[in-house]
Amino acid sequence: MILELVKNVTLLITLCWMHGMLMRCLEGRKLLGDISAGVLFGLVCIMGMAMPLTLADGLIFDGRTVVLSMAAFFGGPLVAVIAGGIAALFRWWLGGIGVMPGVLNVLMPILMGLLYRHLHRRGWLPFNVLALLIFAVLVQVLQVLNLTLLPAERFAHFLQVGLLPVVTVLLPSTLIMGLLLRDIEQQKIAREALRQSEAQLRAITEAVPDLSLVLDEDGRYLKIKTPDNDLLLAGSEELLGKRLDEVLPASQADLFMQFIQRTLGSDTPQSIEYGMQTQAGHRTFEARARRLDAPIEGKRAVVLMARDITERVTLELDRRIAAIAFESQQGMLITDAQTRIVKANQAFSKITGYSEEEVLGQPTRMLGSGRQGPEFYQELWQTLTETGEWQGEIWNRRKNGEVFPEWLTISAVRDEQERVTNYVASLTDISERKSAEQKIQHLAFYDPLTGLPNRRLLRDRLQQAMILCSRKGQHAALIFMDLDDFKNVNDLHGHQVGDELLCQVADRLKTTLRELDTVARLGGDEFVILLEGLGPYAEEAGAQVEHIGSKLLQALREPYLVNDQRFNNSASLGVVLFNDEQHTVDELMQHADLSMYNSKAAGKNTLSFYDPQMQAVVSMRLRLEEDIRRGLAEGEFILYLQAQAGANGALEGAEALVRWQHPQRGLLGPGNFIEIAERCGLIEQMDLLTLRQGCELLARWAGLPQMASLSLAVNISARLLYKDDFVDLIQQILVDTQASPLRLKLEITESLLLNDKDKAVLRMQALRAMGIRFSIDDFGTGYSSMAYLQQLPLDQLKIDQSFVRDLPASTSSLAIVRAILAMAQSLELEVIAEGVEDQVQRQALYDSGCKHFQGYLFGRPMAIEAFEYVWLPVAESS
Ligand code: C2E
Ligand code: MG
Ligand code: MG
Repeated sequence: MILELVKNVTLLITLCWMHGMLMRCLEGRKLLGDISAGVLFGLVCIMGMAMPLTLADGLIFDGRTVVLSMAAFFGGPLVAVIAGGIAALFRWWLGGIGVMPGVLNVLMPILMGLLYRHLHRRGWLPFNVLALLIFAVLVQVLQVLNLTLLPAERFAHFLQVGLLPVVTVLLPSTLIMGLLLRDIEQQKIAREALRQSEAQLRAITEAVPDLSLVLDEDGRYLKIKTPDNDLLLAGSEELLGKRLDEVLPASQADLFMQFIQRTLGSDTPQSIEYGMQTQAGHRTFEARARRLDAPIEGKRAVVLMARDITERVTLELDRRIAAIAFESQQGMLITDAQTRIVKANQAFSKITGYSEEEVLGQPTRMLGSGRQGPEFYQELWQTLTETGEWQGEIWNRRKNGEVFPEWLTISAVRDEQERVTNYVASLTDISERKSAEQKIQHLAFYDPLTGLPNRRLLRDRLQQAMILCSRKGQHAALIFMDLDDFKNVNDLHGHQVGDELLCQVADRLKTTLRELDTVARLGGDEFVILLEGLGPYAEEAGAQVEHIGSKLLQALREPYLVNDQRFNNSASLGVVLFNDEQHTVDELMQHADLSMYNSKAAGKNTLSFYDPQMQAVVSMRLRLEEDIRRGLAEGEFILYLQAQAGANGALEGAEALVRWQHPQRGLLGPGNFIEIAERCGLIEQMDLLTLRQGCELLARWAGLPQMASLSLAVNISARLLYKDDFVDLIQQILVDTQASPLRLKLEITESLLLNDKDKAVLRMQALRAMGIRFSIDDFGTGYSSMAYLQQLPLDQLKIDQSFVRDLPASTSSLAIVRAILAMAQSLELEVIAEGVEDQVQRQALYDSGCKHFQGYLFGRPMAIEAFEYVWLPVAESS
């Protein structure tokens, strides 16, 4: 009897095994799996019920409680309902007296199984042998209780005959089946976990942008996965199965084999950085490799993940270069978009006195000096916003409070969306240059003896005064003053006494006049006074001047006391009134000068007004203009050359100076006609003529070995430089004459550049690109600021002869010369001194650092033939 139950149960358990297989097949399809499991368990129950332990007709025992309780426990409600439904229907169909308890014994194990499942999942009941045994006992007790529904004698019969087999077989069966199903379930869980981890791994390897390789211990490619085929040195199909030494250069293959060996011998991942020629060119990689714990086809292997770091390496290199560049001699500052400082270099600290830590996070405002108003900054920001760049001179404050000028360049850095992310500023301390510049200007514009403005400054003020009074409708007066009999003081008492007297004259002039009037000294005992803001009518203005003039005469008449000696020197004054720009500065000066001579002639100690009759001089100019026009047409203007020499006296080149070979007046220098030619617009024609003659000369010299390397400096006037087709004209001359532009130097004056700097720069750049060089003529007599010169494409500064004339005795001239040389050195410009007449001057210049000279010492301006005769050895010229 027991045996029958054992058979029944064994059969059921075996069929349950099938369930395990079925589950594996349907893995991942939960609903279908549940339905199939339910049907299978139901069928299993049917089979059990088909060959049961039969105690009486219609009273059967089989393993259904075991199967259904476990099906409910492991399969859950759906499986249990399907299996239970099938089993219950079949039991119902079998019928007999045991039908009621039989159906109940289908429902009861399902409910028990689901209850156990629920409690177990909640963690309230364990699933182990003991718990399973108690569960099995409970199920069987309930089965027996269900049987009490049978008639009493049947139940008694069951207790007698069936209880033992039921208990002895079904209890262990529940245990076995429970453990068996648990094993199947655990396998299923393990398989699921494996599947998930594999899927994750696959996703991870596919998601990383790295190249992954599996290489065996011989360096054979076993697996290749790459985000981009270009990162490989050949197609992956081509590489698979090949060894490294078959596809890589020997040295590189060796390197990799060593790395593989190192990785195989280590428990931790190993790293390497290498460069490789790939299909996308040379790239740099950073790789990490790890030994595989299980061998592949009997060989040990490594997994290697390589990342393309070419861009990072390049960026790093760029960053390093940028870092070095950042620590340059210039102060550098980087701010964020809100102009808070994020980085500063050492040069910045040196200039401002602030360490980097002190300025980090601070707004750049902290450096402001307050010297420039809000409009300045408004303009700065406007330019910066519009063009992304700004440069200019700005006054900032050092940590110690000192305000100093700096040359500042700011550039905006933008991101891909064109938003400003940073500003980069570079700054140079220009305080030294500035003070040199001011010194030069002071020396150049003020008379060193009296501290009064000199001729240059006076001319400038006079020019301004003319513009101003014509705009305001007022009169102004220019008064020339010459001390009467001053020559005697000098001759009889020496220059020192003379100088002292002149200083006293200057003081008296200043105290007699208003603050806004200009008193200048032209040299010697010549003083000039400029009175502005006089009345709108000539009579009224004249009366005002008479009044001031008599005050002046009176003040100057008073005896002077020098070295306990009294001097009586009155003065003669000559006045010219003006209220428009009709006359030039020179004309006004000339008029005032003429009237001053009138005063002298009238017996000194007087004041004379300019007489329009003197206009005769002016009309003479008009005649001259006509004459120049004729002279140009007749080809009367010719070139004279003056030598330019180097430090050792050797000839380096020449300056072309125009001369007028006048049929009646003989040879005339530029002083006689340049200014008039400039005024009437003939200068362009004259300059182009000189240029053409100069270029023809250069072309001829190119054929003479002794002269081939000489340069020729040609003076050009403002009008010509600004002429629209100037660059084309020069080009045409060069083409026509075949002269080398490398030998041509253009001399321009400072004041000429001031008119329209930007245009001048453009012109000069275009010409310089052709090889033509530029020299600033009469340097020191204009207003050139350092910052200004810096922006011009220059090659040479030519120290004006007025500074050379009094060398080495004049300390002010010497100071100017030295300041110019220092300035030129900082701008990397060559310096030439003109007007060098003797060795002493040359030596003083040389000692100050000047290496190029021009002047009578080396030769006067002379006709071309004479020049060649002097400088070409006899053999060459004959
Ligand atoms: P610059 O260009 O400054 O020329 C130098 C002047 O100094 C020349 O006067 C020259 O003869 C004179 N000089 C040279 N060495 C010495 C010296 O050792 N001592 C003294 N006291 N003087 C010396 P020049 O030839 O009378 O020319 C005067 C100015 O006329 C020139 O000054 C230049 O500005 C202008 N010029 C000359 N040729 C041309 C020309 O072809 N075109 C234009 N636009 N201007 C010209
Ligand atoms: Mg010159
Ligand atoms: Mg000059």
